[in-house]
Amino acid sequence: MNNLSQKVPSAAAGSDPRHVAGHIVRNLRDKGFQAYLVGGCVRDLLRGVPPKDFDVATDATPDQVLKLFPQSLAVGAKFGVVIARENEQQIEIATFRNDGIYTDHRRPDAVSFSRSPQEDVLRRDFTINGLLMDPESGKVLDFVDGKKDIQQQIIRCIGDPEKRFEEDHLRMLRAVRFATVLGYKIHSETADAIKKLAPKIASISAERVRDEILRILVSGFARRGFELLDSCGLLGIILPEITAMKGIEQPPQFHPEGDVWIHTMLMIEGLPCDVAPELALGVLLHDVGKPPTFRVAPDRIRFDNHVSVGMRLAEQICHRLRMSQTETAQVVALVEYHMHFRDAPSMKASTLKRFLRLPLFAEHLELHRLDCLSSHRKLENYEFVQSKLKEFSVEKLSPPRLITGDDLTQSGYSPGPQYRVILQAVEDAQLEGRLSSREEALQFVREKFTP
Ligand code: ATP
Ligand code: MG
Repeated sequence: MNNLSQKVPSAAAGSDPRHVAGHIVRNLRDKGFQAYLVGGCVRDLLRGVPPKDFDVATDATPDQVLKLFPQSLAVGAKFGVVIARENEQQIEIATFRNDGIYTDHRRPDAVSFSRSPQEDVLRRDFTINGLLMDPESGKVLDFVDGKKDIQQQIIRCIGDPEKRFEEDHLRMLRAVRFATVLGYKIHSETADAIKKLAPKIASISAERVRDEILRILVSGFARRGFELLDSCGLLGIILPEITAMKGIEQPPQFHPEGDVWIHTMLMIEGLPCDVAPELALGVLLHDVGKPPTFRVAPDRIRFDNHVSVGMRLAEQICHRLRMSQTETAQVVALVEYHMHFRDAPSMKASTLKRFLRLPLFAEHLELHRLDCLSSHRKLENYEFVQSKLKEFSVEKLSPPRLITGDDLTQSGYSPGPQYRVILQAVEDAQLEGRLSSREEALQFVREKFTP
C-alpha cells in the first residue's frame, strides 16, 4: 500500500473530516502532546476505504483538550472522551487510558489516563481496530499485529479472547458485525470464546444489541451475518424465534427451496446495503409465526393462522428490542399483509385500492418480491400489483370524500357507530366507480340505510 496516499495534510483544515482530524493532531503536537489517528479510521485507510468518521488518541487529558479546543464538548470526560468541533465536523479525541475492572460487563468502573499509546491500544477490542497512524507521515504504529490481520482479513481479539469478552460482552456482537461488514473471518480462538460465552449476551442492554443486529441486517451481507450469529451461538440467545425456523419443513410445491430457515436466509440475502431497518426486520420476521403453527394436515403441511401468530411475535420482538412505536407498527404491518399479494388479482377494487394505499406500500411490495424470488420464483402477483399501481393515480387511490358525518346529520341520521359503516360503504362504492358525486352519494345512503 502506498503510504503517501494515506497522508493527512495538516495545513488549512477544510471541511473534509480527514483534514480536520489532521489539523487537530497537528495542534496537539504543537503543544507538545502525543497524538495519532486511531481505530476504525486507520483500519479503513489501510483497506483503501474512506472512513466514516475519524478518531484521535492523545496523552493530553480531557481538561487539556477542552482548553486547547474551545468549541469542544466533554461528552464522556469520565472515560477521557471529548468531541472537538471544527468546520462543522466532529472528531472524537480520546485520552490514552487503561480501563479498570468491568463490573457491569459493558463499561469499566473507572479508567486511568496514561501516557503510553501502547497501553491505550491494549484496551481496545480487535487487532484491526488497534492501529495508530501519524496523519502527516502516514506511518502506522502497530503493537498488536493489526496490519497483518487486515491483510489476512481476520477478526482477532487483542489479548486473551475470553478475558476480553468477559470484560465487555457486547464485543462478541461487534466481532460478528465487523466480520460481516468487512467480509473477514473470525480467528478460531476468538470464535471459540464467543461460542463459550454467547449466553452472556443476554445481560447486555436491548438497545445496544438492537443497534448491532440492525447494522448487520442493513449491511448488504445480512445472510452471512445471521449465519455467523447462528454458528457462534449468539442468535439462539438474542432471537430464539429465528433459530426455531430451522428444520420447519414447508410444502415443496410452494417452497422448493427448503425449510423456513432456508427461505428466510435466502430472503435476507436479498436485502441491499442501507435498506430501511423496518423492511429488513419485516423480511426477517415475516414467517416468524410458522414454527409455532406447523401442522401436518391430511393433504399437506399447514401453518394455520401463521400471520396473526407472527404479528404477535413480531410485536413482542420489536418491543424487546426497544423499537419505537412507529417502527414496530410498520414491521407488524409487513408481517400482516405479506400474504395479501396472493389474493390481489381477485380483490374487489375497493379492497385492492385500500391495500395499495397502505403507508410505505413500496416496502410491502419489495418484501413480496423477495418472498417470491426466495421460493417458487413466480412474479405474476408482483407484476399485477405493479401494473395496478401505475394505472391508479393518487386521486384514484385516495379520492376526496364525497360526503361527511355532517351531511349524514343534516339528512336526519343520528350520530353513532353507524356513521363509520355508512361512510365506509360510500367510500367502497366510490372506489369501485359506482359513485362520483355528492348527490349520488346522498341518494345511495337514503336507499341503503334507514335514518
Ligand atoms: P465503525 O466503522 O463501525 O465506526 P470503529 O472501529 O470506528 O468502527 P467504533 O465503535 O466507532 O468502531 O469505536 C472506535 C474504536 O474504539 C474502535 O476501533 C476500537 O478501537 C475502540 N472500541 C470501540 N468499542 C469498543 C469496545 N466495546 N471495547 C474495546 N474497544 C472498543
Ligand atoms: Mg467509528
